[in-house]
Amino acid sequence: MTVTNIVQKVRDGGRVSASEAATLFHEAPLPLLGRVADEIRARQHPGDVVTYIIDRNVNYTNVCVARCNFCAFYRPVGSDEGYVLGFDEIFRKIDETIAVGGGQLLLQGGHNPDLPIEWYEDLFRAVKQRYPEFRLHALSPPEVIHLTRMTRLPVAAVIDRLIAAGLDSIPGGGAEILVDRVRKLLNCYGKATADEWLDVMRQAHAAGLRTTATMMYGHVETVEERIEHLARLRDLQDERGGFTAFIAWSYQPEHTQLGGYEATGIEYLRMLALARIVLDNFPSLQASWVTQGGKVGQLSLAYGANDMGSVMIEENVVRAAGAAYCMDEVEVVRNIENAGFTAKRRNMHYEILGEPFFRSRAVPRMLELAIARAEGDTSRPEELTQYAARSAGEKKLRSQPQ
Ligand code: SF4
Repeated sequence: MTVTNIVQKVRDGGRVSASEAATLFHEAPLPLLGRVADEIRARQHPGDVVTYIIDRNVNYTNVCVARCNFCAFYRPVGSDEGYVLGFDEIFRKIDETIAVGGGQLLLQGGHNPDLPIEWYEDLFRAVKQRYPEFRLHALSPPEVIHLTRMTRLPVAAVIDRLIAAGLDSIPGGGAEILVDRVRKLLNCYGKATADEWLDVMRQAHAAGLRTTATMMYGHVETVEERIEHLARLRDLQDERGGFTAFIAWSYQPEHTQLGGYEATGIEYLRMLALARIVLDNFPSLQASWVTQGGKVGQLSLAYGANDMGSVMIEENVVRAAGAAYCMDEVEVVRNIENAGFTAKRRNMHYEILGEPFFRSRAVPRMLELAIARAEGDTSRPEELTQYAARSAGEKKLRSQPQ
């Protein structure tokens, strides 16, 4: 099929095949791809509202046994630079989030062998006890898989335990590219295969949770493999309908073992528009301004995105790999309105919560990204000793006189 025929098929409401998607990516002019994606966005979201969420991205530990070669964030077990956040530190971060109008933590971290499932359950219960309305969007599929290995429980049982403790929804991190050839090259096949990632989401949806889906592109994958990734997400969404949104971001190469270059802004817009066309059963697409910057983030609203994602209070993962864009609520809203849209606050379920928070209450401006903990802070949270040490490093540390 030619580009013209495929575009007509999409405009008539048809679904593109993998080979048609590849033709669009390789051959369609970018303005045409953007126009088609924008038409789909306008059909799915009539009116002029663009949403965003105020939440905080908290990385509870950077200690990780997975060692993905694209990751600049993790530290191996026993590293002097490894940290685990204490419950009190996490409460403080929640207080700061509530003060700027937020109602949710996006809580993710490394695969730390010294944090058993009880640590997560105790944390979730403690958060819910102190902040009953506060939401926990937590633990991407590879973290859930890690807990199945630690507990020797099936995925559904781990998810049930986490829900009972207070888990509200699951973020779509760790998907990278859902093709095992790519996962092996990125050294992330061991943390979760493509099937394992999808199965966690399937089980989460079966348990009644809503989740997001992501894609990290621009490293060792082919365009055809990106499309296979999208097709696998589309299939699962047909089956379960549990994904609320899709977020694509480009690989950030700085300080990583894999190295290489970052994909350009034009490639991002092309990828975003293609995702809107292929993922015809996904209600929302987020603009990834955290990796692309505010200006490309704003342009995303003309290339299929209907949501500006999260107001960024804290970021540790892509920042470690070189991306450090920061926008507080005032900036996010300014970018949305300047693109000709009306900005509304939402929750994880994409329900509108209201007008921008800063217009009704004085809030502190946050023009610099917070980090997990101050540099050089090697303090250890007290509660860690309540859980049995599993790693040799942790056992040795505990055997030393304090
Ligand atoms: S991407 Fe996640 S799982 Fe992989 S090394 Fe980094 S922290 Fe660990």
